[in-house]
Amino acid sequence: MSTQPLADDDRDQPLYEATKKVYPQGVSGWFRRLKWIILSICLGIYYLLPFVRWDRGPYLPNQAVLIDFPARRFYFFFVEIWPQEVYYLTGLLILAALALFLMNAVAGRIWCGYLCPQTVWTDLYLSVERLIEGDRRERIQRDSGPWTAGKVGLKLSKHFIWIMIAWWTGGAWVLYFADAPTLVKDLASLEAPFAAYLWIGILTFTTYALAGFMREQVCLYMCPWPRIQAALTDQDALNVAYRYDRGEPRMSLKQATRIKAIGEPAGDCIDCNQCVAVCPTGVDIREGAQLGCIQCGLCIDACDTVMAKINRPTGLIAYDTDQAIKARACGTTPPPRRLVRARTILYAAVIALVGALMVYGLATRSMLDLSVLHERTPLFTQLRDGAIRNNFTLRIANKRPESRLVSVSVSGIAGATTELIGANPVPGRPGVVEVGPDQTLEFKLLVTVPRAALDGPKAMIQIKAQDLTINDIRTVQENFFGP
Ligand code: SF4
Ligand code: SF4
Repeated sequence: MSTQPLADDDRDQPLYEATKKVYPQGVSGWFRRLKWIILSICLGIYYLLPFVRWDRGPYLPNQAVLIDFPARRFYFFFVEIWPQEVYYLTGLLILAALALFLMNAVAGRIWCGYLCPQTVWTDLYLSVERLIEGDRRERIQRDSGPWTAGKVGLKLSKHFIWIMIAWWTGGAWVLYFADAPTLVKDLASLEAPFAAYLWIGILTFTTYALAGFMREQVCLYMCPWPRIQAALTDQDALNVAYRYDRGEPRMSLKQATRIKAIGEPAGDCIDCNQCVAVCPTGVDIREGAQLGCIQCGLCIDACDTVMAKINRPTGLIAYDTDQAIKARACGTTPPPRRLVRARTILYAAVIALVGALMVYGLATRSMLDLSVLHERTPLFTQLRDGAIRNNFTLRIANKRPESRLVSVSVSGIAGATTELIGANPVPGRPGVVEVGPDQTLEFKLLVTVPRAALDGPKAMIQIKAQDLTINDIRTVQENFFGP
């Protein structure tokens, strides 16, 4: 590291350059319409899904998607995940990551441009801003002008609607953790748990801050995905790109007409800056691929509108591959795009494999679970008649929506007897317990064996839980300790 003192000129340089506020202009076109449709679907799902009902029988909640922390369950339509099955959630995360990789290989940053919550909510906030404060030019003029009563009124209205949206967002979030209609009533009557109000407050603040103020800064400085995506992309992935070969040399329409009249070349780009004005991250796509470009396609709409107005072919900015851009720059015909290639096949194959494993696991999973914990203090006790006793804690989980009779037995040592303590015994049926619907029953199992039956300090036993009505058996091997 250099220890030389800074020169006076260097001291005058700022350590970083403050970014200018971005005032995205409204635009219409194919991609803008697509973004509206995706935005409506995403927000519709997010806000309304907690109110969708799903009948699971009389003992289970009827909310289609519910994260039930008190009961330690995750419900997703017909799927019910127990805490010990958290590997399904791991599988879902792996699937989500692979889907992101596949999307990237096929269509570039389609996630960033259309589906990412930061994009969706920022888009919604921008549309509210535009509706209340007007389009780009009006907003720039107002922000650089003095404060007036009208300006204060408009700003207050905008922030009020922003906070309402943020509040709805936080409110919808907590509805995924309790019965939605009941929680809505409790929230309205101020009878909901404190945690619900706290989380609504946190989500309201983060939504308001991220979508209202931080906007493109989140994509530029906080999100790791643009960096990862840049490392994952290849020459066949689609990206929003400016066609240099067609657009350059850029110049105004008037100048282009003059230059062309004397037989000099002029590009199709008339340097109108519309593509920059509509960009939600303030990127000039004509400078090439950039991390700041979320590939939302709005500059395509803007440029196509300009091209249509001046009677030139659209597509000066378009989704394109690096390979095609290079080919055009060299004056050759771009090769056909390869959608099916090694990486897309690999991602699709791994997605299919992980998905198939998860479906198989869900379809064949046991609805009866047995876990056994050997008491360590003491490891064993010797009874007055010399017999040896070991204590175990058993947990039997019944994942069915109806009660089940389960017999508990022990084998492996001749003459072993059992006693169940703290169970839910069935009268007249020793060793049989009743486990309620969708419940876990925990109780003690005392196993006693004659001293003569043990020929060493320990022996292996099998503890078996067997459903008495259907063929569902769980067996656990455990050590039985003696002196
Ligand atoms: S450059 Fe174009 S595609 Fe990229 S973020 Fe800006 S408007 Fe969207
Ligand atoms: S909108 Fe099209 S014509 Fe206008 S500056 Fe951008 S690329 Fe050039």
